[in-house]
Amino acid sequence: MPHSHPHESDPDWRTALRAGGFRLTPQRELVLAAVQELGHATPDEVLAQVRSASMAINLSTVYRTLEVLESVGLVRHAHLSDRASTYHSVTEREHFHLVCRKCERVESVDPMVAASLAALLEGEHNFAVDLGHLVVFGQCLECT
Ligand SMILES: [Zn+2]
Ligand SMILES: [Zn+2]
Repeated sequence: MPHSHPHESDPDWRTALRAGGFRLTPQRELVLAAVQELGHATPDEVLAQVRSASMAINLSTVYRTLEVLESVGLVRHAHLSDRASTYHSVTEREHFHLVCRKCERVESVDPMVAASLAALLEGEHNFAVDLGHLVVFGQCLECT
């Protein structure tokens, strides 16, 4: 059964897991590969993707695995809808998110675009912005 492995060039996911005290398991590898393939994925979407390779995985396994992967810095989550958190791989360039409320399209935006806002919040409010967790809701051009 073909399934893609995390890219060899990625920050070494094996090292990251081991350093966090976690074993390398096929499930963890499958879930990480699914997030990397899907780009932005909820646990449900990850489950649908990994099910094609392994029926032994259920939703609570996916939730737990995503938590493990996030705790060792391999994936991040953001809240792109009222539904479950959405995960993306840290191998994607650092970005924040634009989400269209109508078509639910997600666009990844370079943090430089929000650099002046981040600098302002840091300077005026002594607040360090976590841009990777930032989501801006609105409407895309096609939907307006
Ligand atoms: Zn993202
Ligand atoms: Zn739209």
